[in-house]
Amino acid sequence: MDKAHMLIQEEIKALKLFLSLFYIIFFSYDIIYYFVYPAMNIDDRSIGFPKGGLGFGMHIFMFLLLPIGIYLVKKKNPYVVKYIIFIGYTLIDLLNNMMIYLDSNQKFASGNAVEQFLILFSPLFVNKRYFWLVSLGMIGKYALLGVVLHSSQVIIPIVLCVILAIISFILLTRFKSYVRTITKIFEGAQQAEKLAVVGKMATTIAHEIRNPLTALKGFTQLQREKHPEDAGYYNIMVQEIERMNTIVSELMVLGKPKKREYKLHNIKDILSYVIYIVEQPALQNGITISTMFDKTLPFIQCDEKQMKQVFLNIIKNAIESMPNGGNIIVEANSFHDNQVVVSVTDEGCGMDQEKIDKIGEAFYTTKENGTGLGLMVTYKIIEEHQGEVAIESKLGVGTKVNVMLPVVETK
Ligand code: ADP
Ligand code: MG
Repeated sequence: MDKAHMLIQEEIKALKLFLSLFYIIFFSYDIIYYFVYPAMNIDDRSIGFPKGGLGFGMHIFMFLLLPIGIYLVKKKNPYVVKYIIFIGYTLIDLLNNMMIYLDSNQKFASGNAVEQFLILFSPLFVNKRYFWLVSLGMIGKYALLGVVLHSSQVIIPIVLCVILAIISFILLTRFKSYVRTITKIFEGAQQAEKLAVVGKMATTIAHEIRNPLTALKGFTQLQREKHPEDAGYYNIMVQEIERMNTIVSELMVLGKPKKREYKLHNIKDILSYVIYIVEQPALQNGITISTMFDKTLPFIQCDEKQMKQVFLNIIKNAIESMPNGGNIIVEANSFHDNQVVVSVTDEGCGMDQEKIDKIGEAFYTTKENGTGLGLMVTYKIIEEHQGEVAIESKLGVGTKVNVMLPVVETK
């Protein structure tokens, strides 16, 4: 069953309960108040509806709304029914009261228990807008009657409505907070499930990939000894092979974090290394990378390989967002000596909020050859370093990825 359908079913359930209670209370209250009660001669009121009003016309009108409601439910639009019932009731009741009490010397005595029901049961729909409409609408109705009919009698129902509205508000807020928590847990579980799949896949693939990688690394080292003049390139090749190895292992242990090697590092060195690696291929795509580093940056307690991974992922994304070239600015600033902020700004395609919310999910990618794992791994590593990632982006303008890392005091 799809989500929209499930929500509609839930609304229909609430609506059924709401409508049955509404009509039962509405009708039986009037019968008891205007017919049974006076018949018992408890006070000196005469049997029947007050003169001049709509009488049963009001009930007939309200019952006529029922087929409209059923039609809307059939049309898969159950959300408006509660509004129709409330607005219909308020208007017809207002009209009825005006007809009875305006230009008449009858004392204002009106209302139906269904009004209290409407307010008290408004949390049924877990919808704040509906709650506010009902509460304020009902209070407004009585205030209007009070003004038009010059009656202070309306104070009592207004006070009652306010008290009930406060109770409903508390209930509604509780419901909402509960639903939010459940949703969060559920989303977390979904994410965990995805991670479990990644972990399993990676474990299987890792064995297959690791052996050839080991061979590759061995031969590269051999070549490095043979060609000492190119040692610089070979060093990078070896390091990159090691990183491939790390990525695979990373995925394997995504579920259960392994012991990290936290040491003090200068973030400038890490960034320079990453930029050095990507600079050449970036230039070929018409992309220049410039840096703006604070003169003095405090050292960061971090796992070097992982940090390189983080900034490689982020800068690669920036490059990939600019297929037609552009500029990337990598900044590193220190704040109050207890935080280092690294920002990577690109002039690429940018993202809307909906996308920003999604990009940390496993396998979320918009690229043909993307894995959708880069940012997930990035978020996880930064989280393990007690840091934070914040993304600012504008569709068609560009993206700025900020990584905030805490500076641990060392004495
Ligand atoms: P991948 O790069 O394999 O697609 P990522 O997790 O690194 O996976 O990124 C997920 C998605 O986030 C990308 O497919 C892209 O749509 C979006 N994204 C990430 N960084 C940027 C950026 N700098 N500009 C625009 N979109 C981005
Ligand atoms: Mg990526």
